Amino acid sequence: MNITALTDKAELLSQVKFAEISALSRFSSEKILRAFTNARVSSADFAGTNGYGYGDTGRERIDTVFAEITGSEAALVRHNFINGTHAIATALFGVLRPGDLLLSVTGKPYNTLRDVISGKPGSLSAYNIAYDEISLLPDGEPDYAAIADKAPRATAIFIQRSRGYTFRPALGIDTIAKIVSVAKLANPGVTVLVDNCYGELTEKKEPTEVGADLIMGSLIKNFGGGITDTGGYIAGRADLVSLAADRLTTPGIGGEAGSTGNANRGILIGLYHSGQAVGNALRTAVFAQALFGLMGYGVYPEYSGQHSDIVTLLELGSEEKLLKFCRAVQGASPVDSFLTPEPWDMPGYDCRVVMAAGAFTMGASIELSADAPVIPPYAVWFQGGNIYDTAKYGIVQAAAAIEEL
Ligand SMILES: *Cc1c(COP(=O)(O)O)cnc(C)c1O
Repeated sequence: MNITALTDKAELLSQVKFAEISALSRFSSEKILRAFTNARVSSADFAGTNGYGYGDTGRERIDTVFAEITGSEAALVRHNFINGTHAIATALFGVLRPGDLLLSVTGKPYNTLRDVISGKPGSLSAYNIAYDEISLLPDGEPDYAAIADKAPRATAIFIQRSRGYTFRPALGIDTIAKIVSVAKLANPGVTVLVDNCYGELTEKKEPTEVGADLIMGSLIKNFGGGITDTGGYIAGRADLVSLAADRLTTPGIGGEAGSTGNANRGILIGLYHSGQAVGNALRTAVFAQALFGLMGYGVYPEYSGQHSDIVTLLELGSEEKLLKFCRAVQGASPVDSFLTPEPWDMPGYDCRVVMAAGAFTMGASIELSADAPVIPPYAVWFQGGNIYDTAKYGIVQAAAAIEEL
C-alpha cells in the first residue's frame, strides 16, 4: 500500500476513537470554562505584580480555577516551578518528615525523580526519609496484594500515572481509584501522591476526584495547552497543598505571596486551551498507532485500546529507522525544522539518546516531540500534537521516511 492509502485507512480506523475523544475534550473544555466563569476571571487578573506580589488577584484566581478543574480543595499553580520534577519534589519534601516511608507502587519512578529520592546530599534519603517500591505485575497491573501488605508501614504512597520511558502501560483512573482504596483500607492515614504528568485531561476525572490526596505536574505538558511558557502545579487536599507551598517559599508565607510578572495571562490561556490541546494530542496518538500498526510495527497502546496518557511507544527495530523517524518529526516541526537530530550521551542516561523537539516552548512535549534511547529494541516514545493537522503531517512524514514510501 502507498502512504496515501495507508494514511486514509489509518484515519478510517481511528474514527470510533476520534468520536470518543471529541466527547472527552468537549467535556473537559466545558468544565474548564465553567471554572473560569465561577471564579470570575477578569482582564484585571492579567496585570500581574512585582516585588512581593501581595494581592496578586491573577495568582489567586488561577489557583481557584485549577482547584475546581481538578476537583481539589486547593491548588498551587506557579510559574516558579521550573518543571514537573520540581513540582513533584516540592510536594514530596513538603509532605514527608524524617522517619517517614515513601512507597512507590508503580515501580521505579521517572528518571529525574531518582536523585530526589536518594543519592544526593539533598535527597529525601539524606533527611532520613526511607523509600521502598512495589513493581507493577508483568501485565502492567498494580500488585494489590503487595500494596495491602506494605501500606501499613508507609507514610505516603506514590503513583506514576504515565508510562515514562518504560514499556509499561499508563494507569487508568479506575486503576488509580482501586490503588487508593486498597492502600487506604490497609492504612487509613496514608497519603496518596500522584505524578500526574501526561495524564491530565485524558479521562473525565483527575486522580484527586477518586481519592488521591495530591497531584503534581508540569505546565509545559497537558495543562499548558501548548501555550504556557513555564511552570508547574500541585493540587489536592488544602492542608497538604499548604505544606508544599511552605516548601516552595517559606513557612509563614506559603502561597500568599510571590510576584507573577507577566505569567498569569499565559497560564490562563494555556489552561483554557488545554482540553482541546489534549484532545488533539490523543487524536495524533490514535492516528499514529493505527498507521504504524498497519505497517506492522509494535505500538503501545493500540489505537483501539485505553488511553490514559498522551504517550505512544513505537518499536522500530533498527537504529536507522529510529534516526529517520526522529529526523522526519523534526523536519515537520514549526521551529528548528532545519536541524538534524543526532544521538548523544545525554547526562542522566546510560546510553545515547536521540530527540526530536521543534517546539515553540523549549522542551514542551504537548507539542509533537519524540525521544529514543539508541539501544534495542530501538523504541521511540513520542507525544503531543496540540494541533492535529500539523502533528498528523509530521507522523505521516515519519512513516514515509522509515519505509521510504
Ligand atoms: C515529564 C514527566 C515528569 C516531569 O518531567 P519534567 O521534565 O521535569 O517536567 C515526571 N514524570 C513523568 C512520568 C513524566 O512524563
